[in-house]
Amino acid sequence: MAFDNLSEKLQNVFKNLRSKGRLTEDDVKSALKEVKLALLEADVNFKVVKQFIKTVQERAIGQDVMNGLNPGQMVIKIVNEEMIALMGSETTEIALKSGNEITVIMMAGLQGAGKTTTTAKIAGKLKQKGRNPLLTACDVYRPAAIEQLKINGEKQGVEVFSMGDKNKPVDIAKAAVEHAQKNGFNVVILDTAGRLHVDEEMMDELVAIKNAVDVTQTILVVDAMTGQDAVNVAGMFDEKIGIDGVILTKLDGDTRGGAALSIRAVTGKPILYIGMGEKLSDLEQFYPDRMASRILGMGDVLTMIEKAQEAIDEEEAKKLEQKMKKAEFDFEDYLSSMSQMKKMGGLSSIMSMMPGMGGMKMPDIDEAEAEKGMRRTESIIYSMTLEERRNPSLLNPSRKRRIANGAGVDIAEVNRLVKQFEQARKMMKQLPGMMGGKRGRKGRF
Ligand code: GDP
Repeated sequence: MAFDNLSEKLQNVFKNLRSKGRLTEDDVKSALKEVKLALLEADVNFKVVKQFIKTVQERAIGQDVMNGLNPGQMVIKIVNEEMIALMGSETTEIALKSGNEITVIMMAGLQGAGKTTTTAKIAGKLKQKGRNPLLTACDVYRPAAIEQLKINGEKQGVEVFSMGDKNKPVDIAKAAVEHAQKNGFNVVILDTAGRLHVDEEMMDELVAIKNAVDVTQTILVVDAMTGQDAVNVAGMFDEKIGIDGVILTKLDGDTRGGAALSIRAVTGKPILYIGMGEKLSDLEQFYPDRMASRILGMGDVLTMIEKAQEAIDEEEAKKLEQKMKKAEFDFEDYLSSMSQMKKMGGLSSIMSMMPGMGGMKMPDIDEAEAEKGMRRTESIIYSMTLEERRNPSLLNPSRKRRIANGAGVDIAEVNRLVKQFEQARKMMKQLPGMMGGKRGRKGRF
């Protein structure tokens, strides 16, 4: 997961701060020295780090302690706020023209940055927003890129405009806009050529496209794993062609996070989206506050809730809640809650967004083992008849033996699952009493 190393180091610094009742100026300074090292190790631009530490220090020293916060928490609060500011504070959307006016988005980036994939991801997002996008293959130097765009476009259900590799990118862009006008598309997304490094010819071509068609937004795609190189590339593109925003790809594989934390501060351009995987759905809007929360191990509850809302069928969730309250939860419900969890991206994805869990290392929660356990549980439940799933009290020893055989597990495992399940139901029965009622909090205090 992104930022693992940085997150772990910062959380250690904060743990030390929290354990102190009072903080001296020296305590703050030495903690910030460690924050500085952690940021530099994460490959954050050194000028950015210097300014960041200076600002935090000025605010943290001589600051009145806020109500209810101890000095350690105060420092964490300031680091959090400054980190949000570093990444641009607000979420920036891709600017789109209104009504039927055509928005032209030019995608640029070095080869391998993830431009073609991201172009298709963006088309999907725009479609979700009710737009009618047209993808355009302007990379005439790499026939494979045209093919890749066509495949991805098809997966997204978005038309791809191509004129093969014998025409000039400028002419293809112009023709695409005309095609869009005639056929009711309101966004044209141009996938331009990438090169191995920044060169004049590439920049000239992008400028020529910008001059030939009325480009609304120029978006640069950079690879987070290249760290400060990504920041330099962004600076150069902005200087030569002018960019409106950046999409940072491969953040899923970037344990350092330097690019995410430096791009805005160095180039003044916002990060619009982040790429979190190879699948076409793995593109997330960039929220500076949520990102800071994740980095500082405070979790990203909002993203978690959104993912849950996407994954969970609301009717289904309500039914489950009712059943839980009445302790009528059965093995059928167990299966459906497991499948909803899977839709949210599995255990590790959920854990990484939970407050205080982000920094947890895999040895603490062995994900592979946990998922294996879940699969075994599933196969046990699938070996039950529908009747047994709905009415677990039917499960006598001979039925359990049949189920164990069906699932290819030991009968002890079936017994364990049934027992755990019964205990969970018992707990649910007690829950309403614990939450309120006669033995509620008021009575006890
Ligand atoms: P282009 O040369 O810039 O057009 O790059 P491609 O779109 O062909 O992507 C290069 C490689 O990066 C492909 O294998 C993509 O699947 C992969 N990729 C793109 N975005 C992401 C991302 O956000 N995360 C991960 N893990 N891989 C990505």
